[in-house]
Amino acid sequence: MQVVQILHMNKGDGQTSYARNSTVQRKSISISKPIIEKAVLELVGSNIMGIESMGIADLGCSSGPNTLLPISHIIDVIHAKPSEVTELRVSLNDLFSNDFSSIFMSLPSFYNKRKQDYDNGGDPNQHAINIYISAVPGSFYGPLFPRNSLHFVHSSFSLHWLSQVPNGLDNKGKCSISKSSPKCVLSAYSMQFQKDFSDFLRSRAQETVDGGRMVLSLMGRPSFDLTTEHEGTFYQFELLAQALMAMVSKGLIEEEKVNSFNMPYYTPYPEELNLVLDKEGSFIKDCIETFEVEWHSSGADINRNVGTFDDDQTITSSGQRLVTNTVRAVTESILEFHFGKGIIDVLFQIFEELVSEYLSNCTTTPKYTIFVISLIKKN
Ligand code: SAH
Repeated sequence: MQVVQILHMNKGDGQTSYARNSTVQRKSISISKPIIEKAVLELVGSNIMGIESMGIADLGCSSGPNTLLPISHIIDVIHAKPSEVTELRVSLNDLFSNDFSSIFMSLPSFYNKRKQDYDNGGDPNQHAINIYISAVPGSFYGPLFPRNSLHFVHSSFSLHWLSQVPNGLDNKGKCSISKSSPKCVLSAYSMQFQKDFSDFLRSRAQETVDGGRMVLSLMGRPSFDLTTEHEGTFYQFELLAQALMAMVSKGLIEEEKVNSFNMPYYTPYPEELNLVLDKEGSFIKDCIETFEVEWHSSGADINRNVGTFDDDQTITSSGQRLVTNTVRAVTESILEFHFGKGIIDVLFQIFEELVSEYLSNCTTTPKYTIFVISLIKKN
């Protein structure tokens, strides 16, 4: 499967669009805000090469209300602090079939809003900065930008997507890592992730100036083991596989078709991230933090640092719809490519029933684990 050509989040602003079903991802962006802020402040405070014309990239920007959010945060931080920065070259990257045109359509209001904020700001510390936004389609697992052209790189909720499904998987009746998958499936996924993440770091190392910064957030899992305690980090794809197998039982899909289907998606654990970062060696680790976000996240349940979690929101009847649409908005392009458009509505009806049953048996709301990694490019 050519992930690079197929994968895209659901376009437009309909019921199952990414634009309307990305609150989990939005929450991840707000969680990483203080970490981004700290990195940007340290960056503009340093006398780094070419900072007057600062290069910023957001990798895996998608489309919808989240797309320009990290960029807005970064611009706000730079604006508020006297510095040598006079222009920002902002590059928005995603795969080729991303809905870039809807991003372009949102730019006039983005520019207007920034102009208004600046005009009304009244803060004497604020200084004029020209902003140049462009789109860079392509895979972030390879080169995207000229050498030494970037000062700050951000990527949110994207690096758990692999460049491909690992070769030669025998993962019958499952579509991702799962408690009952053979060990070799887990290890094939892990190897693919390590290769991809290493390629990502190597490419960015070429493109980022020495002392430049990178803040990455991605889904992960707390440990190597796929334990019940942590099943929230991978179980949504277990349920998706169950929904696919239910369609096989109903004679709606061939079993062979399900057996040959796997998601190009992997949730790494901390030792694995550290291993790749140390081995690749181009970046210093400033911090790696772990957070949890509930499966059906709507707003008030951000838990900074695992271990401090203490609330248990009531599981509402709309929870299963939220989870279903969140999963559908990000997986539909891949599922449609493999199984055809015709199965999608029924598949997600069954999936929603399974999610509902699963949530009603959970004593606490399942949670995704998110890692936020702040890095400094070595000299
Ligand atoms: N950053 C946004 C979008 C996250 S969705 C947010 O936080 O809401 C993940 C995005 O990563 C998708 O748009 C997907 O197309 C993109 N993506 C996945 N693999 C990619 C790759 N190899 N290169 C570039 N973008 C990729």
